[in-house]
Formats: sequence, C-alpha cells, structure tokens
Amino acid sequence: MNSIGKQVLNALKNEISEIDYQRYIRQLEFNENDSKSNLAVFHAPNPLIANWIRTKFADKISHLFEIKTGVRPAVSIVVKTSTAATPHNVAVAVPSERPSGGSLLNPSYTFQNFVIGGSNQFAYISAKAVSEKPGIVYNPLFIYGGVGLGKTHLMQAVGNVMLSEGKTVIYTSVEQFLNDFLRHLNNKTMDRFKDKYRKCDLLLIDDIQFLSGKNQLQEEFFHTFEALRNENKQIIITSDKHPKKIGGIEERLISRFEWGLVADIQPPELETKIEIIKKKCEINRVKLDRDVINYVATIIENNTREIEGILSKLNAYSQLMGVDITIEFARNVLKEQMAEKRSNITIDLIMDTVAKELNVKSSEIRSKSRNSNIVYARRIAIYLSRSLTPNSMPQLAQYFGMKDHTAVSHTMKKIQELMKNDEDFRIKIEELSNKVSTVTDE
Ligand code: ADP
Ligand code: MG
Repeated sequence: MNSIGKQVLNALKNEISEIDYQRYIRQLEFNENDSKSNLAVFHAPNPLIANWIRTKFADKISHLFEIKTGVRPAVSIVVKTSTAATPHNVAVAVPSERPSGGSLLNPSYTFQNFVIGGSNQFAYISAKAVSEKPGIVYNPLFIYGGVGLGKTHLMQAVGNVMLSEGKTVIYTSVEQFLNDFLRHLNNKTMDRFKDKYRKCDLLLIDDIQFLSGKNQLQEEFFHTFEALRNENKQIIITSDKHPKKIGGIEERLISRFEWGLVADIQPPELETKIEIIKKKCEINRVKLDRDVINYVATIIENNTREIEGILSKLNAYSQLMGVDITIEFARNVLKEQMAEKRSNITIDLIMDTVAKELNVKSSEIRSKSRNSNIVYARRIAIYLSRSLTPNSMPQLAQYFGMKDHTAVSHTMKKIQELMKNDEDFRIKIEELSNKVSTVTDE
C-alpha cells in the first residue's frame, strides 16, 4: 500500500497543472519516519524547489492530509543534503499552518545573504546596528521603500540574529496582527494577546502601511508599542512609504515611528542586481554563466523578488530537459513570460516616454541645451537608460553626447541623491519606469 504521503501527492496531481507536478511535486519524497499525525515531512532536492513548494503548494498538501486523515498537519519541506551541509541548505521548514499571529522567519534572510549596495547600505547598517544592540540604538527602526527591495529580508535578518541568541522574536504582518487581535477579542482572552506581544524581545511588523484606516487596531498597536519601548524591547517596522506619507494613521503613532531611525531603501543599481542574483544562485546552488546573470539583471527591473521565480524556472526547465543554461536557453525560457517586454526596452523608448511625460522634445534631450527643464529630462532619461537597459556608461555617454562615462556616473549619483531626499521625485521616477515597462507590454 502506498504511504499516506504518496497518496496525498497523487491526489495533488489532480489539482494542479501537469507542468507544476512534473517540475516540482514529482521531486518530493515523503519522509515517513520523521512525520507525525500533525507534521508531514517531505524532502526536496534543493532549496529552490523547497521554497517554491512551500509558498505555492504547502497549504494544498496540508488540506489533502486533512481530507484523508482528519488531522491538518504542518507541512515541512526539508532540503535533502547530498553535499556537505552549509547554513543555507539545511532546511526550509515552514509549517503551512503558522502559529497564530506570528510566523516563522525565513532562515535564508540573513545579513550574510544580503548584498550591500549604494541603494540599501544605510538601511543595512542601521539594521546591523540594531541587531548588535537591540532596544538601545534605534528604537523603533523604520525601514521603507518600494516592493521587493529587501525590507522584509533585512528585518528578518535582525530576527534571525536574535533568534539564534535565544531571544523571543515575533514577526507579523498587519493582517496577522489584526486576526490575532480579533480572535483574542472574541475569545475574551485579550490578556493573552497582550502577554504575547508585549513580552517579546523583538517585534517585527511588516508593511505597516496596511494599518491605515484601522483605528481600533492602531489604538491596540499604540499600547503594544509603548509597552515594548518602555521595556527597551526592540521594534522594527517596514512600510512602502515614509511614515509621514502613509496617511490614515494617528499622529501620535506617526511621530513614534520617527522616534528611532527612519531608513530608506532605493531601487538597486544594475551592479547590485547582478550581485544579488549571484548570491541567490549561490544559496540555491544554481550555476549560471556571467552573461546569463547579466541578462537576468537587465530584465528584472527593480523588483528583486522576481529573481527567485526566474532562477526556479530556469533551473526546472534545464533539469527537465537535461541541458545547460546558456544565454540562448535563458532567453527562450523567459521570453514568453516577462523577458520579452523588458529586453524590448530601448533608449529610444525611454526618450519618447520621458519626452512625452515631461513635455519636451526627444531631440532636445539629446541636444546640448542647458535649459533647466531639458537638463532635468536628460538626467532622468540617462538614469532610466542605465537602470532599465543593458547599456554601459560609456555607451550612454556616447548616445547622450557627453564627454565620457564619468559624466554619466555623475548624473546617476545626482538622481539617486534626489530620489533619496525627495519622496515625490522618487515616486515620479518609479512611475516613469513603470510607464516605460508597460508600453512594451502593448
Ligand atoms: P520587500 O520586503 O522590500 O518587498 P523582500 O525583502 O521580500 O522585499 O525581498 C524580495 C527578495 O529579494 C527576497 O528574496 C530577498 O532575499 C531578495 N533581496 C532583496 N534585496 C536583496 C539584497 N540586497 N541582497 C540579497 N537579496 C535581496
Ligand atoms: Mg516585504
């Protein structure tokens, strides 16, 4: 008779696409010895597949167990270690049913695995300092920036350091905090709720912008915040915007968010993206040539979150087909998805978009005019060309009729500085960047 694990995987086959099954689920092995009625343990061949299954299928697997056994187990996907274990390939074991109100940290979100670049070094240094002196240096630490720039990674890096020191760490989203709050309110167990959130050593609240408009929850969070701070317990908060820009949040909370340190993360430069991809390859034990890495860097734009999806896809296809990942192979695999639109971004397209949005002519952008509007548009066009196309600085210098690459580099710094100091400007640039990317979709 098939083991229960096998039965569940067979049942799962009927619920998901054939491709997903072949690519991911087929590679799972049920570990009967380590499993219990409330814990189902599977082995995956590498962390990529483990991660993917964890996010996409763990809930389904857990549910199928429930149907067959009546008990809904936590699902643990453990990486089978054939080579010597490094800290990265040990295990990604996340139960699909998380302990209510807080979830486990991603063990690969460490400082060691975080690539430092100009765009994120301030946030990195701040988080590092907090991990060394929690509750003392900056409390709270407030990290903000666009999607996929590493906010969650950094806050969990602090969490992982403190966990390893035996401290109590709670990581939660606003939604989880809310659910937990309502549950305890319903069950009349608010003292337990307070105990939990006010007695931890580190409270990580991710994406606080979702607190906007939730007045009762803000009230509760305010008291949690006060209690923790009075005890010198560390609080780290992330958001997609600066505290002042979130809106719909009580003034007294906003001012407290700014009490400690507010650190921003900017979109990574191409070089940083390349380093992040290399890091992800290393962690996931995927081998990519330099030209493939560069290619992936140019298509991922600013959201580094896409990297793992892309690596997983490349890896799965190459394993399935038994071929190496060459640049042609990568282009082919990624083409249908998102690659096409991104690799279609050209300087000309950027020029057209910038010209239209800023009301200047694209011929003027390339001219030597010192008119301030035109200089402004030119700088933005150069910045976007450097961020969104694979052109090198010397190539851009030539295109824009500048003396040499140092002039381009100077412009890049100038724009980055502006983006850092001027939130509205940053948003404007992000909008332009999105416009350029979506034009190529049509
Ligand atoms: P955010 O919370 O800002 O939306 P995440 O922290 O979820 O972004 O990051 C998205 C993905 O990109 C994660 O896999 C994370 O590990 C990775 N990542 C982002 N920035 C870096 C970096 N500087 N070094 C290494 N990985 C990074
Ligand atoms: Mg996040």
